Amino acid sequence: MSPEDVHYQFSRLAVDKAKLCLSRIAVTNPPPRVGVVLARDSQLLGWYAKSFGGQFFDGDAMVNFEAKPSAHAEQALLEKLDGLDLRGVVAYVTLEPCTKKRGDGLCCADLLVQAGISRVYIGNCDPNPDVGGLAWRTFHAAGIEVCDFPPELRNEARRDNDPFFRKFHFSVRESGEASFDYESNNHTRTLGPSGREFETKWFECGDGSIHGLDYRFNVAIAKNCTSFEQIDDPARWFEDSYYTKTAREGQIIIFRNEMGYALIQIIRVIKKRTGLIANNAELRFRYQLRYSDGAA
Ligand SMILES: [Zn+2]
Repeated sequence: MSPEDVHYQFSRLAVDKAKLCLSRIAVTNPPPRVGVVLARDSQLLGWYAKSFGGQFFDGDAMVNFEAKPSAHAEQALLEKLDGLDLRGVVAYVTLEPCTKKRGDGLCCADLLVQAGISRVYIGNCDPNPDVGGLAWRTFHAAGIEVCDFPPELRNEARRDNDPFFRKFHFSVRESGEASFDYESNNHTRTLGPSGREFETKWFECGDGSIHGLDYRFNVAIAKNCTSFEQIDDPARWFEDSYYTKTAREGQIIIFRNEMGYALIQIIRVIKKRTGLIANNAELRFRYQLRYSDGAA
């Protein structure tokens, strides 16, 4: 098997194991179903399905084990493999590992870093806009490579987690095109209804490109995306968000607030000129506002 086939098989296994997680449809706050697999090259070291159980390789055979139902999948499996040298090992997780320190210890992203994992495959970004994408930042800072599951497996894992994702579902509520003089109006163009507005700020970068700015680091660029339809998971692009991002004509910048995302595709940028042939600065863009269905 080629390395690509190996990665596909283990991503597939993680998605299959996540299906074992108990799905409690009746609860109002459904926890996510998560499957994790650890492997060294083509050797499976173990897997765990949250609140279900798992198996680990004891050097001879796969052995069943269970952890407390509240344990996160990555945490449960890493605890079981504690003591093993996990350098060079690859992790496959159906949902972005958590990044908020929890009461009883490190968050799962830090546990994976601490274990020495060399690469992480992630199925879906955490749909919660407060934390979505932060694991990418943690792993990159630690020099760990992060890869996406193949698209069909990402979609399958998301479908299997529908009650959880529905809590954070985003709908397009407004879209259109706008043009304004970014050197006036305090460099700001407000989009969306009052109370849920996005204050997008823009600064000169020359003809054909522009700096988008948000001092709370809530601005990102959707690399290689040329249409809004390609952006199924806006949080994904906040992995390396910074207070300013530069976009060329055709590129898509994303701003976020507590309630959603503003996707903005740059159509045209003209810088201000004075003198004989004077013109105002102009930024023309296409936009789409997506709000959480939970935010009425
Ligand atoms: Zn976790």
